[in-house]
Amino acid sequence: MIRTANIVGAGIGGLTAAIALAQRGVHVRVFEQAPELLEVGAGIQLSPNAMKVLIALGLGEALHEVAFEPNSAVIKNGHSGKAYVSVPLKGIASRVFGAPYYHIHRADLQAVLQNKALEAGVEIALNARVESYDEAGFSCVERADLSVGADGVGSVLSAQMNPDQPVQFTGQIAWRGAVPTAHLPTGLVPPDATVWSGSGKHIVTYYVRGGDLVNFVAVEEKSNWADTSWTSQGDLSDLQNVFDGWHSTITMLLAASTQVNIWALYDKPELKKWVDGSVALLGDAGHPTLPFMAQGAAMAIEDAYILAQCVAVKSTLNEALRTYEILRKPRTKMLQSKARKNADLFHSRGSFGGLLSKAKLNVARCLPSKLAMFPFNDIYKYDATKIDF
Ligand SMILES: Cc1cc2nc3c(=O)[nH]c(=O)nc-3n(C[C@H](O)[C@H](O)[C@H](O)COP(=O)(O)OP(=O)(O)OC[C@H]3O[C@@H](n4cnc5c(N)ncnc54)[C@H](O)[C@@H]3O)c2cc1C
Repeated sequence: MIRTANIVGAGIGGLTAAIALAQRGVHVRVFEQAPELLEVGAGIQLSPNAMKVLIALGLGEALHEVAFEPNSAVIKNGHSGKAYVSVPLKGIASRVFGAPYYHIHRADLQAVLQNKALEAGVEIALNARVESYDEAGFSCVERADLSVGADGVGSVLSAQMNPDQPVQFTGQIAWRGAVPTAHLPTGLVPPDATVWSGSGKHIVTYYVRGGDLVNFVAVEEKSNWADTSWTSQGDLSDLQNVFDGWHSTITMLLAASTQVNIWALYDKPELKKWVDGSVALLGDAGHPTLPFMAQGAAMAIEDAYILAQCVAVKSTLNEALRTYEILRKPRTKMLQSKARKNADLFHSRGSFGGLLSKAKLNVARCLPSKLAMFPFNDIYKYDATKIDF
């Protein structure tokens, strides 16, 4: 039904959509503002719902080669190291949710996506910033039947479509870095996805690149953030001061770090419009998702597959985009909201967070794995590749 698609943004969502559309016979061009495809953002957790899509696109083996499979997802007290909650993942995620739970370096994920996109015949234009759209699609580029805005949380296309819903700083910043495992004492960092929680801040640690690197994401509340850039290089000594006195795993990990980058965390309320004529938003452009459920990229990946499927099975573009919006809005809204609430949990605020901080909740050893996984059922069991249209 559609023969050509233009996509703005060669991030995780844009590249996944490019592959899914190209595999359905659409000629796809991607316009990326960066001069080269480099991901500075250290690691990413890919949960089973995201992996089901990536496996369906033929990326399972390539990702398995560069991934690390964590034993469990664990929440700990950032000072004492006492585990409050532990959800087993290794081996079990595939059995219970239908796909593995992986940790991957973002550069590795981007390379795997880019290779597959090129193999599928996708054209990627670099140094190609798109500023706006009109009724025929993106201004300044050759028009296509479908135009997709996958230009991330600071999306200019989303801002044009929803001018009265600007992006807002959340009062939180994230520091990200990675340390070679060989530079750390053996066994210092547990082979889990570990959230080390504390008052007004937390830090997440996990391995990537088959265990060769330890990735960390540290989040700090900061109301007076004046830097207007989305990311910038951070000062390691500032980060070490923020986590001074924390568990020795954290202080030793940060002491071994040589570089760190900072992301200001932004949010938007539910957007009124995702679709305008032949233009559709996807991923963070349509629903910025805070990192506290590790689901932002997973939602972009699900969006991409479902958008391509809608376009392939519906008889008009109008119907395809309407169906896409109806299928995706409730789920992405649910995840946005859960991620916002998790800041309370990880930063020892609110009722559940308060319980955690008083260490009254210790389910790490007493819950059978099925029950421990219960809160994730709706999220991880979802299979975008099996949606009935
Ligand atoms: C600290 C942190 C940790 C996270 N951890 C996880 C995790 O573990 N798991 C998970 O699922 N999610 C995680 N996320 C969320 C995840 O990173 C995002 O949801 C995901 O990257 C969104 O993908 P996207 O393709 O929509 O946007 P992006 O990845 O932001 O890509 C947008 C692309 O568009 C390009 N672009 C922007 N504007 C233009 C323009 N005008 N013209 C041309 N190109 C343009 C950009 O250069 C970029 O390449 C995390 C986020 C943060 C901040």
